[in-house]
Amino acid sequence: MSYTWIWLLIPIMLWFYSGLFLVRFLGPGFDEWRGSKYLKPYWNLLTLFAGPVMALVMWGYQFLDLIWLLIAKLFGGIFGKLKKVVPSAPPPKSGTGPVRLLDSRGDAVTGDDPRTTSRARDTLRKILAELLDKNLTDLVMEPKPNGICVIQAGQKGKWVPIREIDAKLAGEVILLVKIMAALNPQESGRAQVGKITIRRDGAASYFTAETTATFGGEKLLLHRKGTEPPMSLDACGFSADARKTIHGALSAPAGVILIAAPPDSGSSTTFRALLAEIDTKMRDVITVEDSADAMLPGIVRREPGKAQNNSFPMLTTAAVQESPTVLGLDRLADAGSARTAFDAAREMLLIFTIDAPTLEDAVQKLESWGVSRQELAARLRLAIVQRRLRKLCKCRRKATPAPEIQEYFNEAGFRTDKVCAPAGCRNCGETGFLGVTAVFDLCGPEGLNETRGNTYLAYEGFRLASEGIVSVDEVERAVLADSTTNTQGE
Ligand SMILES: [Zn+2]
Repeated sequence: MSYTWIWLLIPIMLWFYSGLFLVRFLGPGFDEWRGSKYLKPYWNLLTLFAGPVMALVMWGYQFLDLIWLLIAKLFGGIFGKLKKVVPSAPPPKSGTGPVRLLDSRGDAVTGDDPRTTSRARDTLRKILAELLDKNLTDLVMEPKPNGICVIQAGQKGKWVPIREIDAKLAGEVILLVKIMAALNPQESGRAQVGKITIRRDGAASYFTAETTATFGGEKLLLHRKGTEPPMSLDACGFSADARKTIHGALSAPAGVILIAAPPDSGSSTTFRALLAEIDTKMRDVITVEDSADAMLPGIVRREPGKAQNNSFPMLTTAAVQESPTVLGLDRLADAGSARTAFDAAREMLLIFTIDAPTLEDAVQKLESWGVSRQELAARLRLAIVQRRLRKLCKCRRKATPAPEIQEYFNEAGFRTDKVCAPAGCRNCGETGFLGVTAVFDLCGPEGLNETRGNTYLAYEGFRLASEGIVSVDEVERAVLADSTTNTQGE
């Protein structure tokens, strides 16, 4: 352990404090119980030595952590929130099995990879199990130059130490996480972000894994995803009219709600926002989705895996056999599931997402899976096509749109004086963007007879650009970049 004057100062203060504590709180009570005062010198002597003994004990047990635990426990009763973070030995919950570590392909991490050690796997399993048991979301590991790494668990910026390991083992654990998250294991001077998955009793938990270079080497931050509630329709970016349309479609006892978007366009977020609007006390909802987000209350979720018996089509068939009133399928991508789901949509409400940039592309995909345009038209309650747009950070700067964009703005009746482009500041990590929003094109079965393409999405995007919420370039990137599929589609 490296020496600094603070290491000396703290035990002295602790000594002083411990003595004060005993005299102040224990002394009078002891006196009363004893009924006389002639033992007082002995008592003071005891007090004198209680301090250093306590300090030594605390020194041996990484006293700083212990002090924090004591303070947290002392105030635990008063501040309920703090109490939750206190790692008092919890009774092992029933039905909590061992944690299984998965690699980026979803396979179990075994000893086959010579870069990982069994003690690193063991440590990671144990600390993640502890995190799950305590229902905390965050974990930080930061090896210090003194060769010690205190692992802290917490939530919303409140941390408590849960374990202490040597820096070498910490390095092995961090390497293991990097391998699990498919990050570059050699890179340690640059920040990296990835995702790791673990399984416990069949249920998956997902963490974002973030590594950053620090003075002591490399720091690891794990954040369990899926503790945030689903976004409201409003927060998704739906207008009041659109929300009314969605509620109308959701109230239908049977039929189809389709959400089409290219990959990574936020269709899963919309999917969950729609499901969250359903009254699960009145309706049984089963979903098949591979989601990193928390389960919605009252909704039964089946997570597809790679095994034959829990593939997406198998789970879809199984879900239909349970005859729920609402069936949700996130990323419908095969003919078998499409057929099963559309047959079921006669009697239940089917909500599904599909990777397709336009409604026309979605129809063609469904046709290739054996669902005809007529059948879709007969079942369709609502089609939502969407794009995700990055919002400009407050550091945005004024910009003049290109002549053809100005022309479009004039025709559409949009102002151009608020049009902005990304700049960059510390808040947005010099990217110029902060947060996301989405644009939507909603239509009913009548929309299947038109070639809507992405014209309405572009209109909505440029409307946001005219208000300075997004940049013109962002609309072109997110909406117009894949327009080729639409214009050449037929
Ligand atoms: Zn900024």
